[in-house]
Amino acid sequence: VSNVVIIGAGHAGVAAAAALRQYGYGGAVTLIGNEAELPYQRPPLSKGWLLGSVGLDEVLLRGADFYAEQQITLRLGCTVSSIDRRKKYVHLSSGERVDYEALILASGSRAIQPAIAGIAHEGVVSLRSVRDAQKLRALLTARAGGGPGTAASPASAASPAAPTSAGLPAAGVTLAIVGAGYVGLEVAASARQLGAEVIVIEREPRVLARVAAPAMSAFLMAEHERHGVRFALGRAVAAIEADGGLVNAVVLDNGRRLAADAVLIGVGGTPNDALAQAAGLRCDGGVLVDLQARTDDPAIYAIGDVTRRPMPLYGCQMRLESVPNATEQARQAACAIVGRAAPAPEVPWQWSDQYDLRIQIAGHALDADQQVVRGDVAAGKFAIFHFKGEQLRAVEAVNATPEFMAGRQWLGKPLRIDRARLAETAIPLRQLAA
Ligand code: FAD
Repeated sequence: VSNVVIIGAGHAGVAAAAALRQYGYGGAVTLIGNEAELPYQRPPLSKGWLLGSVGLDEVLLRGADFYAEQQITLRLGCTVSSIDRRKKYVHLSSGERVDYEALILASGSRAIQPAIAGIAHEGVVSLRSVRDAQKLRALLTARAGGGPGTAASPASAASPAAPTSAGLPAAGVTLAIVGAGYVGLEVAASARQLGAEVIVIEREPRVLARVAAPAMSAFLMAEHERHGVRFALGRAVAAIEADGGLVNAVVLDNGRRLAADAVLIGVGGTPNDALAQAAGLRCDGGVLVDLQARTDDPAIYAIGDVTRRPMPLYGCQMRLESVPNATEQARQAACAIVGRAAPAPEVPWQWSDQYDLRIQIAGHALDADQQVVRGDVAAGKFAIFHFKGEQLRAVEAVNATPEFMAGRQWLGKPLRIDRARLAETAIPLRQLAA
Protein backbone atom coordinates (compact mmCIF):
# COMPACT_ATOMS: atom_id res chain seq x y z
CA VAL A 1 0.00 0.00 0.00
CA SER A 2 1.58 3.31 -1.06
CA ASN A 3 -1.06 5.76 0.10
CA VAL A 4 -3.38 5.87 3.13
CA VAL A 5 -6.19 8.39 3.59
CA ILE A 6 -7.74 8.84 7.04
CA ILE A 7 -11.16 10.48 7.43
CA GLY A 8 -11.45 12.23 10.81
CA ALA A 9 -8.61 13.86 12.75
CA GLY A 10 -9.70 12.93 16.27
CA HIS A 11 -8.22 10.48 18.77
CA ALA A 12 -8.48 7.48 16.45
CA GLY A 13 -7.38 9.17 13.22
CA VAL A 14 -4.30 10.82 14.71
CA ALA A 15 -3.33 7.62 16.54
CA ALA A 16 -3.61 5.66 13.28
CA ALA A 17 -1.37 8.13 11.41
CA ALA A 18 1.19 7.97 14.23
CA ALA A 19 1.04 4.16 14.43
CA LEU A 20 1.61 3.80 10.68
CA ARG A 21 4.83 5.80 10.95
CA GLN A 22 5.82 4.01 14.15
CA TYR A 23 5.50 0.68 12.34
CA GLY A 24 7.75 1.96 9.56
CA TYR A 25 5.14 2.73 6.93
CA GLY A 26 6.85 4.90 4.30
CA GLY A 27 3.96 5.74 1.96
CA ALA A 28 1.83 8.86 1.87
CA VAL A 29 -0.50 9.51 4.82
CA THR A 30 -3.28 12.10 4.48
CA LEU A 31 -5.35 12.98 7.54
CA ILE A 32 -8.57 14.84 6.70
CA GLY A 33 -10.56 16.49 9.49
CA ASN A 34 -13.54 18.81 9.36
CA GLU A 35 -12.65 20.80 12.48
CA ALA A 36 -10.47 23.89 12.12
CA GLU A 37 -8.27 23.40 15.20
CA LEU A 38 -5.19 21.22 15.39
CA PRO A 39 -6.39 17.79 16.57
CA TYR A 40 -7.09 17.84 20.31
CA GLN A 41 -8.13 15.56 23.15
CA ARG A 42 -11.83 15.50 23.96
CA PRO A 43 -11.84 14.27 27.59
CA PRO A 44 -10.63 17.62 29.03
CA LEU A 45 -13.56 19.45 27.39
CA SER A 46 -15.84 18.46 30.27
CA LYS A 47 -13.07 18.59 32.89
CA GLY A 48 -9.86 20.69 33.02
CA TRP A 49 -10.52 22.72 29.87
CA LEU A 50 -14.04 23.64 30.99
CA LEU A 51 -12.71 24.64 34.39
CA GLY A 52 -10.10 26.82 32.75
CA SER A 53 -7.19 24.97 34.34
CA VAL A 54 -5.73 23.89 30.98
CA GLY A 55 -5.64 25.73 27.66
CA LEU A 56 -6.15 24.38 24.14
CA ASP A 57 -2.44 24.12 23.40
CA GLU A 58 -2.09 21.83 26.43
CA VAL A 59 -4.74 19.42 25.14
CA LEU A 60 -3.47 18.98 21.58
CA LEU A 61 -3.08 15.34 20.61
CA ARG A 62 0.27 16.14 19.00
CA GLY A 63 2.30 19.32 18.73
CA ALA A 64 2.06 21.34 15.52
CA ASP A 65 5.52 20.12 14.38
CA PHE A 66 4.62 16.46 14.64
CA TYR A 67 2.70 16.28 11.36
CA ALA A 68 5.44 17.90 9.28
CA GLU A 69 8.17 15.85 10.95
CA GLN A 70 6.27 12.63 10.32
CA GLN A 71 5.29 13.68 6.79
CA ILE A 72 1.62 13.40 7.56
CA THR A 73 -0.45 15.67 5.31
CA LEU A 74 -2.96 17.29 7.63
CA ARG A 75 -6.00 18.74 5.89
CA LEU A 76 -8.02 20.62 8.51
CA GLY A 77 -11.40 22.23 7.93
CA CYS A 78 -12.15 19.70 5.15
CA THR A 79 -15.25 17.55 5.10
CA VAL A 80 -15.35 14.27 3.20
CA SER A 81 -18.72 14.14 1.50
CA SER A 82 -18.58 10.72 -0.17
CA ILE A 83 -16.47 7.65 -0.82
CA ASP A 84 -16.16 6.12 -4.29
CA ARG A 85 -15.16 2.55 -3.52
CA ARG A 86 -14.90 1.48 -7.15
CA LYS A 87 -12.53 4.25 -8.20
CA LYS A 88 -10.95 4.47 -4.73
CA TYR A 89 -11.18 8.15 -3.99
CA VAL A 90 -12.99 10.34 -1.50
CA HIS A 91 -14.82 13.49 -2.44
CA LEU A 92 -14.36 16.60 -0.34
CA SER A 93 -17.21 19.06 0.04
CA SER A 94 -14.98 21.55 -1.80
CA GLY A 95 -15.38 19.32 -4.86
CA GLU A 96 -11.80 18.04 -4.70
CA ARG A 97 -10.99 14.33 -4.99
CA VAL A 98 -8.38 12.54 -2.91
CA ASP A 99 -7.26 9.10 -4.12
CA TYR A 100 -6.59 6.29 -1.66
CA GLU A 101 -5.17 2.85 -1.76
CA ALA A 102 -6.20 2.15 1.83
CA LEU A 103 -8.87 4.22 3.58
CA ILE A 104 -9.40 4.52 7.33
CA LEU A 105 -12.75 5.83 8.49
CA ALA A 106 -12.29 7.56 11.87
CA SER A 107 -15.25 9.93 11.84
CA GLY A 108 -16.20 9.43 15.50
CA SER A 109 -19.64 10.04 16.94
CA ARG A 110 -21.86 13.00 17.65
CA ALA A 111 -24.15 13.96 20.49
CA ILE A 112 -27.70 12.64 20.19
CA GLN A 113 -30.23 15.45 19.80
CA PRO A 114 -33.43 14.17 21.44
CA ALA A 115 -36.81 15.37 20.19
CA ILE A 116 -37.39 18.01 22.86
CA ALA A 117 -39.45 21.07 22.02
CA GLY A 118 -37.22 24.16 22.16
CA ILE A 119 -33.92 22.27 21.79
CA ALA A 120 -32.78 24.79 19.16
CA HIS A 121 -33.01 27.79 21.51
CA GLU A 122 -29.92 29.88 22.20
CA GLY A 123 -28.39 28.57 25.41
CA VAL A 124 -28.94 24.87 24.69
CA VAL A 125 -25.70 23.05 23.95
CA SER A 126 -24.30 19.57 23.65
CA LEU A 127 -20.63 18.83 24.22
CA ARG A 128 -18.52 17.19 21.58
CA SER A 129 -16.10 19.74 20.18
CA VAL A 130 -13.92 22.53 21.53
CA ARG A 131 -16.42 24.96 20.01
CA ASP A 132 -19.24 23.37 21.98
CA ALA A 133 -17.07 23.59 25.09
CA GLN A 134 -16.31 27.24 24.46
CA LYS A 135 -20.01 27.95 24.08
CA LEU A 136 -20.82 26.10 27.29
CA ARG A 137 -18.09 27.89 29.19
CA ALA A 138 -19.33 31.24 27.94
CA LEU A 139 -22.84 30.37 29.12
CA LEU A 140 -21.56 29.31 32.55
CA THR A 141 -19.58 32.49 33.04
CA ALA A 142 -22.13 34.73 31.31
CA ARG A 143 -23.57 36.72 34.19
CA ALA A 144 -20.21 37.82 35.49
CA GLY A 145 -19.20 38.73 31.94
CA GLY A 146 -22.11 41.11 31.37
CA GLY A 147 -25.28 39.11 30.77
CA PRO A 148 -26.06 35.90 28.93
CA GLY A 149 -26.57 37.58 25.57
CA THR A 150 -23.05 38.91 25.33
CA ALA A 151 -20.98 35.92 26.32
CA ALA A 152 -23.07 33.33 24.52
CA SER A 153 -23.32 35.24 21.26
CA PRO A 154 -22.41 33.34 18.10
CA ALA A 155 -19.53 35.77 17.55
CA SER A 156 -17.72 34.55 20.66
CA ALA A 157 -18.53 30.93 19.88
CA ALA A 158 -16.84 31.32 16.52
CA SER A 159 -13.35 31.74 17.93
CA PRO A 160 -12.66 28.96 20.39
CA ALA A 161 -9.76 30.59 22.17
CA ALA A 162 -8.53 28.67 25.19
CA PRO A 163 -9.84 30.04 28.46
CA THR A 164 -7.18 32.16 30.07
CA SER A 165 -8.53 32.80 33.56
CA ALA A 166 -9.44 30.18 36.12
CA GLY A 167 -13.08 31.02 35.38
CA LEU A 168 -15.18 33.90 36.57
CA PRO A 169 -17.75 33.07 39.24
CA ALA A 170 -21.00 32.33 37.45
CA ALA A 171 -23.13 34.23 39.92
CA GLY A 172 -26.73 33.20 39.47
CA VAL A 173 -26.32 31.02 36.37
CA THR A 174 -28.38 27.84 36.56
CA LEU A 175 -27.39 24.97 34.29
CA ALA A 176 -29.88 22.18 33.61
CA ILE A 177 -28.17 18.99 32.46
CA VAL A 178 -30.28 16.50 30.54
CA GLY A 179 -28.80 13.04 31.11
CA ALA A 180 -26.72 11.67 33.97
CA GLY A 181 -24.07 9.83 31.98
CA TYR A 182 -20.35 10.39 32.44
CA VAL A 183 -20.23 13.57 30.35
CA GLY A 184 -23.28 15.02 32.15
CA LEU A 185 -21.83 14.29 35.58
CA GLU A 186 -18.39 15.63 34.66
CA VAL A 187 -19.95 18.86 33.45
CA ALA A 188 -22.05 19.00 36.65
CA ALA A 189 -18.86 18.83 38.72
CA SER A 190 -17.06 21.44 36.60
CA ALA A 191 -20.07 23.79 36.56
CA ARG A 192 -20.36 23.61 40.37
CA GLN A 193 -16.67 24.39 40.64
CA LEU A 194 -17.30 27.42 38.39
CA GLY A 195 -20.00 28.52 40.82
CA ALA A 196 -23.11 27.69 38.77
CA GLU A 197 -26.30 26.15 40.16
CA VAL A 198 -26.78 22.70 38.63
CA ILE A 199 -29.79 20.46 38.22
CA VAL A 200 -29.46 17.09 36.51
CA ILE A 201 -32.52 15.53 34.91
CA GLU A 202 -32.34 11.79 34.20
CA ARG A 203 -35.03 9.53 32.80
CA GLU A 204 -33.70 6.42 34.56
CA PRO A 205 -34.18 5.97 38.31
CA ARG A 206 -30.43 6.34 38.97
CA VAL A 207 -27.41 8.12 37.54
CA LEU A 208 -25.12 6.18 35.13
CA ALA A 209 -27.87 3.55 34.92
CA ARG A 210 -26.58 2.01 31.70
CA VAL A 211 -22.92 1.82 32.64
CA ALA A 212 -22.34 1.61 36.40
CA ALA A 213 -23.24 -0.66 39.30
CA PRO A 214 -26.08 0.58 41.55
CA ALA A 215 -23.60 1.10 44.42
CA MET A 216 -21.44 3.29 42.18
CA SER A 217 -24.50 5.27 41.04
CA ALA A 218 -25.57 5.84 44.65
CA PHE A 219 -22.08 6.88 45.73
CA LEU A 220 -21.60 9.35 42.87
CA MET A 221 -25.05 10.87 43.27
CA ALA A 222 -24.39 11.44 46.99
CA GLU A 223 -21.05 13.08 46.13
CA HIS A 224 -22.74 15.42 43.68
CA GLU A 225 -25.46 16.26 46.20
CA ARG A 226 -22.79 17.00 48.77
CA HIS A 227 -21.39 19.51 46.27
CA GLY A 228 -24.81 21.10 45.82
CA VAL A 229 -26.02 19.44 42.60
CA ARG A 230 -29.78 18.79 42.52
CA PHE A 231 -31.32 15.80 40.71
CA ALA A 232 -34.65 15.00 39.08
CA LEU A 233 -34.48 11.25 38.50
CA GLY A 234 -37.03 9.15 36.65
CA ARG A 235 -38.05 12.25 34.71
CA ALA A 236 -37.70 13.30 31.08
CA VAL A 237 -37.53 16.85 29.77
CA ALA A 238 -40.63 17.60 27.71
CA ALA A 239 -39.73 21.13 26.61
CA ILE A 240 -37.19 23.90 26.90
CA GLU A 241 -38.67 27.37 27.24
CA ALA A 242 -37.10 30.67 26.25
CA ASP A 243 -37.80 34.33 26.67
CA GLY A 244 -36.60 36.64 23.93
CA GLY A 245 -34.74 33.72 22.38
CA LEU A 246 -32.78 32.94 25.57
CA VAL A 247 -33.46 29.83 27.61
CA ASN A 248 -35.22 30.44 30.91
CA ALA A 249 -36.68 27.06 31.94
CA VAL A 250 -36.98 23.36 31.31
CA VAL A 251 -40.34 21.66 31.67
CA LEU A 252 -40.40 18.06 32.88
CA ASP A 253 -42.77 15.35 31.71
CA ASN A 254 -44.82 15.76 34.91
CA GLY A 255 -45.36 19.44 34.13
CA ARG A 256 -42.83 20.69 36.69
CA ARG A 257 -41.05 23.82 35.48
CA LEU A 258 -37.44 24.39 36.53
CA ALA A 259 -35.77 27.74 35.99
CA ALA A 260 -32.55 27.44 33.95
CA ASP A 261 -30.30 29.88 32.06
CA ALA A 262 -28.51 27.20 30.07
CA VAL A 263 -29.15 23.57 29.14
CA LEU A 264 -26.61 20.84 28.39
CA ILE A 265 -27.92 17.90 26.40
CA GLY A 266 -25.91 14.85 27.48
CA VAL A 267 -27.94 11.82 26.51
CA GLY A 268 -25.23 9.88 24.67
CA GLY A 269 -23.63 9.60 21.27
CA THR A 270 -24.47 8.16 17.89
CA PRO A 271 -21.90 7.06 15.27
CA ASN A 272 -21.00 9.27 12.28
CA ASP A 273 -21.53 6.35 9.91
CA ALA A 274 -23.55 8.08 7.17
CA LEU A 275 -20.55 8.10 4.80
CA ALA A 276 -20.06 4.37 5.32
CA GLN A 277 -23.75 3.65 4.85
CA ALA A 278 -23.90 5.71 1.68
CA ALA A 279 -20.86 3.79 0.39
CA GLY A 280 -22.66 0.50 1.07
CA LEU A 281 -20.35 -0.70 3.85
CA ARG A 282 -21.93 -3.01 6.41
CA CYS A 283 -23.23 -1.03 9.36
CA ASP A 284 -25.37 -1.98 12.35
CA GLY A 285 -25.31 0.73 14.99
CA GLY A 286 -21.80 1.62 13.80
CA VAL A 287 -19.52 0.41 11.00
CA LEU A 288 -18.95 -3.32 11.45
CA VAL A 289 -15.29 -4.28 11.69
CA ASP A 290 -13.17 -7.25 12.68
CA LEU A 291 -10.22 -7.37 15.12
CA GLN A 292 -7.99 -5.87 12.45
CA ALA A 293 -10.41 -2.96 12.06
CA ARG A 294 -11.35 -4.18 8.57
CA THR A 295 -14.75 -3.39 7.14
CA ASP A 296 -16.32 -5.67 4.51
CA ASP A 297 -14.31 -3.76 1.86
CA PRO A 298 -10.68 -5.02 2.00
CA ALA A 299 -9.36 -1.51 1.21
CA ILE A 300 -11.36 0.22 3.96
CA TYR A 301 -10.78 0.14 7.73
CA ALA A 302 -12.83 1.83 10.44
CA ILE A 303 -11.71 2.75 13.95
CA GLY A 304 -12.92 4.50 17.10
CA ASP A 305 -16.39 5.67 18.11
CA VAL A 306 -17.81 5.08 14.62
CA THR A 307 -17.33 1.30 14.79
CA ARG A 308 -19.11 -1.68 16.22
CA ARG A 309 -16.37 -4.15 16.99
CA PRO A 310 -15.91 -7.69 18.26
CA MET A 311 -15.25 -8.06 21.99
CA PRO A 312 -13.58 -11.47 22.39
CA LEU A 313 -13.62 -11.14 26.17
CA TYR A 314 -17.41 -11.10 26.17
CA GLY A 315 -18.18 -13.00 22.97
CA CYS A 316 -20.21 -10.16 21.48
CA GLN A 317 -19.93 -6.94 19.49
CA MET A 318 -19.97 -3.50 21.05
CA ARG A 319 -19.70 0.12 20.06
CA LEU A 320 -17.39 1.79 22.57
CA GLU A 321 -16.81 5.48 23.13
CA SER A 322 -13.44 5.74 24.81
CA VAL A 323 -9.93 6.93 24.07
CA PRO A 324 -8.30 3.55 24.82
CA ASN A 325 -10.67 1.90 22.32
CA ALA A 326 -9.83 4.51 19.66
CA THR A 327 -6.08 4.00 20.07
CA GLU A 328 -6.37 0.20 20.22
CA GLN A 329 -8.28 0.07 16.95
CA ALA A 330 -5.86 2.58 15.40
CA ARG A 331 -3.04 0.11 16.08
CA GLN A 332 -5.14 -2.75 14.66
CA ALA A 333 -5.67 -0.87 11.38
CA ALA A 334 -2.03 0.24 11.15
CA CYS A 335 -0.81 -3.34 11.74
CA ALA A 336 -3.12 -4.69 9.06
CA ILE A 337 -1.97 -2.06 6.55
CA VAL A 338 1.76 -2.65 7.11
CA GLY A 339 1.31 -6.42 7.30
CA ARG A 340 2.18 -6.87 10.96
CA ALA A 341 0.43 -9.50 13.07
CA ALA A 342 -2.77 -8.24 14.68
CA PRO A 343 -2.13 -6.94 18.20
CA ALA A 344 -3.59 -8.99 21.07
CA PRO A 345 -7.06 -7.71 22.04
CA GLU A 346 -6.94 -5.33 24.99
CA VAL A 347 -9.19 -5.19 28.02
CA PRO A 348 -11.55 -2.22 27.48
CA TRP A 349 -11.15 0.55 30.03
CA GLN A 350 -11.90 4.21 30.58
CA TRP A 351 -11.79 6.90 33.21
CA SER A 352 -13.72 9.87 34.50
CA ASP A 353 -12.71 12.74 36.80
CA GLN A 354 -15.31 14.43 39.00
CA TYR A 355 -14.30 16.80 41.86
CA ASP A 356 -11.37 15.02 43.50
CA LEU A 357 -12.59 11.59 42.42
CA ARG A 358 -10.60 9.56 39.91
CA ILE A 359 -12.99 6.97 38.52
CA GLN A 360 -11.48 4.11 36.52
CA ILE A 361 -13.40 1.29 34.91
CA ALA A 362 -12.11 -1.85 33.22
CA GLY A 363 -14.32 -4.36 31.46
CA HIS A 364 -18.11 -4.44 31.21
CA ALA A 365 -20.35 -5.74 33.95
CA LEU A 366 -22.99 -6.94 31.42
CA ASP A 367 -24.41 -10.15 32.87
CA ALA A 368 -22.41 -10.16 36.14
CA ASP A 369 -24.30 -11.70 39.02
CA GLN A 370 -22.07 -11.00 42.03
CA GLN A 371 -20.35 -7.86 43.28
CA VAL A 372 -17.52 -7.64 45.78
CA VAL A 373 -16.65 -4.24 47.25
CA ARG A 374 -13.08 -3.70 48.41
CA GLY A 375 -12.29 -0.51 50.30
CA ASP A 376 -14.32 2.16 52.02
CA VAL A 377 -17.27 3.54 50.08
CA ALA A 378 -18.03 6.21 52.69
CA ALA A 379 -14.43 7.46 52.47
CA GLY A 380 -14.59 7.61 48.67
CA LYS A 381 -11.82 5.06 48.15
CA PHE A 382 -13.08 1.70 46.91
CA ALA A 383 -13.44 -0.72 44.02
CA ILE A 384 -16.40 -2.82 42.96
CA PHE A 385 -15.46 -6.13 41.34
CA HIS A 386 -18.14 -7.72 39.17
CA PHE A 387 -18.23 -11.49 38.70
CA LYS A 388 -20.27 -13.88 36.64
CA GLY A 389 -19.85 -17.12 38.48
CA GLU A 390 -16.11 -17.47 39.00
CA GLN A 391 -15.27 -15.09 36.18
CA LEU A 392 -14.29 -11.48 36.72
CA ARG A 393 -16.24 -9.30 34.26
CA ALA A 394 -15.40 -5.75 35.31
CA VAL A 395 -13.95 -3.50 37.98
CA GLU A 396 -15.12 0.01 38.84
CA ALA A 397 -12.70 1.94 41.02
CA VAL A 398 -12.90 5.29 42.82
CA ASN A 399 -9.54 6.69 43.98
CA ALA A 400 -8.32 3.09 44.03
CA THR A 401 -5.82 2.80 41.19
CA PRO A 402 -4.07 -0.35 42.51
CA GLU A 403 -7.42 -2.19 42.54
CA PHE A 404 -8.20 -0.90 39.05
CA MET A 405 -4.79 -1.99 37.75
CA ALA A 406 -5.10 -5.42 39.34
CA GLY A 407 -8.62 -5.92 37.99
CA ARG A 408 -7.54 -4.84 34.52
CA GLN A 409 -4.68 -7.34 34.58
CA TRP A 410 -6.86 -10.15 35.92
CA LEU A 411 -9.60 -9.61 33.35
CA GLY A 412 -9.41 -11.97 30.45
CA LYS A 413 -6.78 -14.17 32.09
CA PRO A 414 -7.61 -17.70 33.18
CA LEU A 415 -7.06 -16.84 36.85
CA ARG A 416 -8.90 -17.94 39.92
CA ILE A 417 -9.67 -14.92 42.03
CA ASP A 418 -10.25 -15.42 45.71
CA ARG A 419 -13.65 -13.75 45.88
CA ALA A 420 -14.15 -14.63 49.56
CA ARG A 421 -11.10 -12.62 50.65
CA LEU A 422 -11.16 -9.89 47.99
CA ALA A 423 -13.01 -7.52 50.33
CA GLU A 424 -10.29 -7.79 52.97
CA THR A 425 -8.03 -4.82 52.27
CA ALA A 426 -5.38 -6.18 54.66
CA ILE A 427 -4.67 -8.93 52.13
CA PRO A 428 -2.44 -7.67 49.31
CA LEU A 429 -4.02 -7.83 45.85
CA ARG A 430 -1.24 -10.01 44.46
CA GLN A 431 -2.17 -12.77 46.90
CA LEU A 432 -5.75 -12.88 45.63
CA ALA A 433 -5.27 -14.26 42.12
CA ALA A 434 -3.65 -17.54 41.13
P1 FAD B 1 -13.46 11.82 17.53
O1 FAD B 1 -12.42 12.13 18.54
O2 FAD B 1 -14.83 12.38 17.71
O3 FAD B 1 -12.91 12.28 16.12
C1 FAD B 1 -13.65 12.17 14.93
C2 FAD B 1 -13.32 13.37 14.05
O4 FAD B 1 -13.81 13.14 12.74
C3 FAD B 1 -14.00 14.65 14.54
O5 FAD B 1 -13.09 15.69 14.54
C4 FAD B 1 -15.10 14.85 13.52
O6 FAD B 1 -15.46 16.20 13.40
C5 FAD B 1 -14.40 14.33 12.27
N1 FAD B 1 -15.28 13.99 11.14
C6 FAD B 1 -16.49 13.37 11.19
N2 FAD B 1 -17.00 13.22 9.97
C7 FAD B 1 -16.09 13.77 9.11
C8 FAD B 1 -16.06 13.93 7.68
N3 FAD B 1 -17.05 13.49 6.90
N4 FAD B 1 -14.98 14.54 7.12
C9 FAD B 1 -13.96 14.99 7.91
N5 FAD B 1 -13.93 14.85 9.26
C10 FAD B 1 -14.99 14.25 9.83
N6 FAD B 1 -13.19 8.88 26.72
C11 FAD B 1 -12.42 8.37 27.71
O7 FAD B 1 -11.84 7.30 27.53
N7 FAD B 1 -12.29 9.02 28.91
C12 FAD B 1 -12.89 10.20 29.16
O8 FAD B 1 -12.75 10.76 30.24
C13 FAD B 1 -13.70 10.79 28.12
N8 FAD B 1 -14.28 11.99 28.31
C14 FAD B 1 -14.99 12.55 27.28
C15 FAD B 1 -15.54 13.81 27.46
C16 FAD B 1 -16.25 14.43 26.43
C17 FAD B 1 -16.82 15.79 26.63
C18 FAD B 1 -16.41 13.75 25.18
C19 FAD B 1 -17.16 14.40 24.05
C20 FAD B 1 -15.87 12.49 25.01
C21 FAD B 1 -15.15 11.88 26.05
N9 FAD B 1 -14.57 10.62 25.89
C22 FAD B 1 -13.82 10.09 26.90
C23 FAD B 1 -14.77 9.85 24.66
C24 FAD B 1 -13.60 10.03 23.68
O9 FAD B 1 -13.31 11.40 23.55
C25 FAD B 1 -13.96 9.42 22.34
O10 FAD B 1 -14.19 8.05 22.53
C26 FAD B 1 -12.87 9.64 21.31
O11 FAD B 1 -12.75 11.00 21.00
C27 FAD B 1 -13.15 8.84 20.05
O12 FAD B 1 -12.20 9.11 19.08
P2 FAD B 1 -12.60 9.09 17.54
O13 FAD B 1 -11.36 9.49 16.79
O14 FAD B 1 -13.29 7.86 17.19
O15 FAD B 1 -13.68 10.26 17.39
